[in-house]
Amino acid sequence: MTDQGNDQLRPMPEDWRRALAVVAHPDDLEYGCAAAIASWTDGGREVVYTLATRGEAGIDTIDPATCGPLREREQRASAAVVGVSEVEFLDHEDGVIEYGPALRRDIAAAIRRHRPELVITLNHRDTWGGVYWNTPDHVAVGRATLDAAGDAGNRWIFPELTEQGLEPWDGVRWVAVAGSASPTHAVDAGPGMERAVRSLLEHRAYIEALTDQHPEEYCRTFLASHTDAAAARFGGRPAVTFEVFSR
Ligand SMILES: [Zn+2]
Repeated sequence: MTDQGNDQLRPMPEDWRRALAVVAHPDDLEYGCAAAIASWTDGGREVVYTLATRGEAGIDTIDPATCGPLREREQRASAAVVGVSEVEFLDHEDGVIEYGPALRRDIAAAIRRHRPELVITLNHRDTWGGVYWNTPDHVAVGRATLDAAGDAGNRWIFPELTEQGLEPWDGVRWVAVAGSASPTHAVDAGPGMERAVRSLLEHRAYIEALTDQHPEEYCRTFLASHTDAAAARFGGRPAVTFEVFSR
């Protein structure tokens, strides 16, 4: 217990080597999580990104056939900035991802392929807190990821995966949900912050379509507003927060 009270966020677990981040869209990890990922890869940890879609429905002025490949390129570039070289896409349909066995199976397969101890995903709840409604894709992928962490370890759920050579992996110890309104843990955002800004900035086509603000200023302001808000609960240090579900 500290003198700042018992609502302080705990440091994230550190005794792991591999993480798999599973989100719906290109940019989901860059909108808040990338500073933590930069710190982890700095420390020699391996992080892989799995995206349910290519974000092809994300830019009003660009049709999906053009947008998908563009956003894939931007996502690979933004991952590279924070030390992530492996990015894979599950090719569900942007905007209408369905929660269900097919999504759970695809995510369980990714977990079996990469055998992470830590799984990261994005807010699976209906809102971001208060009346800020979440999107159905985030809810579906977040929920399915929490579920797939268990599915991956059971050889009798999705037996076709075992037939494909993907042996069960029951080694996921935590699922950490970014963007949760009820965080439990945090990572110091300081060391990775500059790279987090550059990583978000790689989604340039998306950002230029979204705002007239100067892109770098937009990225810096957005990220700092969230990490600064968490500082009061993390010893005064700007932080990336997670709601951690232990397994
Ligand atoms: Zn998203």
